[in-house]
Amino acid sequence: MATEFDVFKSFPEKDSDWTEEHWKYLVEYLIDTDMVKYKELASLVLGHLNPSQVGTSVASKKTFQSHYPPRKCWEAVRQWHFDQTGKCADCGTRLELQADHIIPREELGDDADYVGNLTLRCRRCNVIKRPSHKHGGKTYLTAEAALMWILFTKKPSTYQEFYHLCREYGMTMASVRFEEAWAMAKWLEREGRYSIDKDSKY
Ligand SMILES: [Zn+2]
Repeated sequence: MATEFDVFKSFPEKDSDWTEEHWKYLVEYLIDTDMVKYKELASLVLGHLNPSQVGTSVASKKTFQSHYPPRKCWEAVRQWHFDQTGKCADCGTRLELQADHIIPREELGDDADYVGNLTLRCRRCNVIKRPSHKHGGKTYLTAEAALMWILFTKKPSTYQEFYHLCREYGMTMASVRFEEAWAMAKWLEREGRYSIDKDSKY
C-alpha cells in the first residue's frame, strides 16, 4: 500500500493536469487492487456511451412540443439528435452526453426551447458552466467521481483531511455527501486496505 501511495504522490496535484499515462496507472491500480473488474469498467463505460434520454427528455418537454403538430416533436428531435457530432461541444467526450442550450434559458426563457438552439454537452461541462457552480472546473471530474479520486489517490487518513481536500478541489455540495463518500474509506479499512487515523472524526 505504501508504494502505491508514493506513486500517486508524485502525480500532478490537479487531476486536470494528469496525462493519459496517469489515468492508465489509476485504472490499473483499481484493477490490480481488485476494486473493480475489467468487465465492470467496460459495462459502466458502455452505459455512459449510450446517449440515453438525450432526445427523449427534450421531446417530452411541453415547450418543445409546442413547436410541432401533435406527436411530431419526436421526429424533429430525432433528426436533430442524428445530426449531432456525438461529442461534447466543450470537451469532446462521448460520455454522458446531454442536450444543452446554445443560448441559455436564463437569456431566452421558454423561447430557448427549440431544437436549433440545442447542442450536445457532457454532464460535467453542462454543470460547471452554471453560475451556481462557479467553483467547478478546478477538477476535471464530476463531483461524484472527484470524491473517489481524492479518496484513492490522496488517501486522506482522517475525515477532516478528506473534507478539506474536497473543499480545496472546489466541491460546494453539502458535507453529508462527503460523509457518504467517506464510507468507502470505512469499508476498505475493515478489509485492511485503508488506514484511518484514530483522530478521524468518523
Ligand atoms: Zn464536456
